[in-house]
Amino acid sequence: MKPLQIYNSLIRAVEEFVPLTPGVVTFYSCGPTVYLPQHLGNMRAYVFVDTLKRALRFNGYDVRHVMNITDVGHLTSDADAGEDKIEKTARAQGKSPLEVADFYIAQFKRDCAALNIELPSDAPAGDHPAPPQSALCRATGNIDAMIAVITRILANGHGYVTPSGVYFDVEKWRGPGGRGRLARQSLAEQHAGQRLEHSADKKSPHDFALWVLNQPHHLMQWDSPWGRGYPGWHIECSAMSMKYLGETLDIHSGGLDHIPVHHENEIAQSESATGHPFARYFVHNAFLVGMEGAKISKSAGRFPVLADLIAAGINPLAFRMLCLGAKYRSELAFSLESVRAAQSNLDYLNEFARNLNESALASEQDSAWAQEYAERFHQALNHDLNTPQAMAVVLEMVAQAYRLHDQRIWQTLRRFDQMLGLDLAKRLDEVRAGVLPPEVSRLVSEREKARADKNFARSDELRALIEAMDYVVKDTKTGVVVMPRRVAT
Ligand SMILES: [Zn+2]
Repeated sequence: MKPLQIYNSLIRAVEEFVPLTPGVVTFYSCGPTVYLPQHLGNMRAYVFVDTLKRALRFNGYDVRHVMNITDVGHLTSDADAGEDKIEKTARAQGKSPLEVADFYIAQFKRDCAALNIELPSDAPAGDHPAPPQSALCRATGNIDAMIAVITRILANGHGYVTPSGVYFDVEKWRGPGGRGRLARQSLAEQHAGQRLEHSADKKSPHDFALWVLNQPHHLMQWDSPWGRGYPGWHIECSAMSMKYLGETLDIHSGGLDHIPVHHENEIAQSESATGHPFARYFVHNAFLVGMEGAKISKSAGRFPVLADLIAAGINPLAFRMLCLGAKYRSELAFSLESVRAAQSNLDYLNEFARNLNESALASEQDSAWAQEYAERFHQALNHDLNTPQAMAVVLEMVAQAYRLHDQRIWQTLRRFDQMLGLDLAKRLDEVRAGVLPPEVSRLVSEREKARADKNFARSDELRALIEAMDYVVKDTKTGVVVMPRRVAT
């Protein structure tokens, strides 16, 4: 099998992935800023992170994954202007920043669980990890690490202290006319169309804050060698990736929107502190777009969140399926129709899993013809994560099983699903244990309540939603019976 090939934004080409330490991959992903529910555009990025992680594991790597949670320092612009996003929500809701962050972190974790996105475990506060180590880490729990990196940047002459903050000297780092490593833009091009905050303290408007000082209205403040204040957004990622994964990462991921400012700044900070390359592969996912082609983002109003899909009777994993149906570097068009189409493919696979016969389940060896599909699946995956092609192979293999009346593909399908994360084994277990999936039982109890209230129109709507999830409802004299559309015989 050809080794994993991946598009590296640093060289703007697909290349073979080779980790620094054989067998182990250090992987850092920029995580959520927790001041609002994560909309589906955000969730596409996290499905992608999970897909890349599973693809690395599928190729036999031990993945050490770190994701940060930004709970301080991310201003309403990605540069140094505006209000801290978490504090803005806190003021609006009359809560503390900690309450806001905790609330949206819990919601983010629930959405990730519903989408089968495996997050790293929470990093204990004040820990001293032996890198490389997986962690889900909060910015506010890692202020010391940020101060340590800023101290190194200053010692190497790449930053300066002023009354309003400690700034990174971008022009000195890049040299005259220097271009960014990822965006390959000059500073003027990079910031074209942006209104940069022009603090009199900055040597250049392009310089950015490492540590902000003298902002008495900011609620979250910490002591530092330069005075009380709070960190800039970009330094969080440099400090936490170094702390948990070491000074040179194998893979750093994020959305395409991170390239020009956030990731350029991370590279500049990290490399000026350590003198080593920061990340060997930068991997970026494209946006989820609405049918009108607009980027789904918070700044343009309210965008759909996972709860909206669930309320429309859509299985959250259908959204995962939708994401897998597009290449991660291509824009993905979102609409209820597109996610319903993905759901019908998911239903097709679920139905196959639910109806597996005993001999197919008992067979440790799949039929020989499945091998060809296994090879094609792996090939598609290793070709820059071509998940639409991999998904087509899965659907073809199942269709072939129906055609040949030969279900002995379960070992292969289960292995595919370790990569895809569609929970097919769980669907089978539910049928065998007579358990309904949680979203179906919720609809069933809501329907029972509607019937008790004699709201038959609502009851019929709910029946349709249950049937959309591939279950059949029968009202019998002894009560309601719900079963998968076809039960294994
Ligand atoms: Zn980041």
